[in-house]
Amino acid sequence: MGVLDGQTLARQIREQVGREVTRLREETNRTPGLTVLMVGDDPASGIYVRTKHKAAGKLGIRSDLLLLPANASQSRVLERLRQLNRDDGVDAVLVQIPLPNHLDTWAVLDEIDPCKDVDRFHPLNLGRVMTGRADLFPCTPAGVLRLLDHHGVELNGINAVVVGRSFIVGKPLAAMLTNRHATVTVCHTRTRDLAARVREADLVVAAAGKPGIISADMIRSGAVLVDVGTTYLDERSEVEKLCPPDQLTRFDRKGNAIAGDIHWTAWEKSSWYTPVPGGIGPMTVAMLMENTLELFRARGRRLQWPGMS
Ligand code: NAP
Repeated sequence: MGVLDGQTLARQIREQVGREVTRLREETNRTPGLTVLMVGDDPASGIYVRTKHKAAGKLGIRSDLLLLPANASQSRVLERLRQLNRDDGVDAVLVQIPLPNHLDTWAVLDEIDPCKDVDRFHPLNLGRVMTGRADLFPCTPAGVLRLLDHHGVELNGINAVVVGRSFIVGKPLAAMLTNRHATVTVCHTRTRDLAARVREADLVVAAAGKPGIISADMIRSGAVLVDVGTTYLDERSEVEKLCPPDQLTRFDRKGNAIAGDIHWTAWEKSSWYTPVPGGIGPMTVAMLMENTLELFRARGRRLQWPGMS
């Protein structure tokens, strides 16, 4: 079994982006600008937002954090997005989700200029992913494919099982794998026999957010395992049950640990696996940096969408 080491590849990608940002700054006297908008104070979202903000800053990307109170009205959020769309210094806009319940997530995501939509969740951009015409992809699915490609994992003709059907991970990834000629099964909470589906897989991508739901007995020997699931645990007994020993060490040091959806005892049956943490998490951030750079490069080509003024 080999480790799909997202930490190392993500660092290489970030370094590459950083060098390109420096070069472009010297050439154009401009710096790529990313604005992350967060509504409310959900602690997990706060961690993700600060991680993205810090990563961008380290690469010389101008990063702004825009924090709105949890009770911000829909019209206020939409108006802030319209301002960002008009702001020429902003190349990339990201709205951290989940949003508070009173906000209509699709209405908010629809408001982002598709040419500044760095997460690629605008329906025009998701449509391009579905139809195989995208040049940029949602960050987590992009990170999964980049990591697999980097290690030469064959996708053509394989049976891939994606557990989770969110528009953030499962659905776009299923489309991307299909476009790469994998035969894809998408599983969710109504799937009748998850174990039977997973057992057929050459590649399992777990993105359910349910720690340990994929157990070793569900894995075909030699399968490739990609774990997107990220759940913070703060009970030692849970960590003992669900995490490898290094996470127990982390728990004793920090008071929490991170569990994936694939139980770590399944790793030894795989040909390749992503660790949690250190797999898809850092890849997602690296892809966000790369997408920001690409949107900056594409400035001159903005507003090319048919039907948009
Ligand atoms: P989400 O919107 O909650 O979607 C979860 C999906 O998993 C749903 O489609 C759900 O099915 C399915 N599911 C839940 N429990 C299941 C079960 N027992 N059996 C089969 N399917 C099940 O979550 P998400 O935003 O896609 O994120 C999924 C996980 O990935 C979370 O742990 C999240 O933290 C993590 N994540 C990590 C990164 C990263 O950078 N590493 C990025 C994004 C997300 P239904 O549709 O039927 O409800």
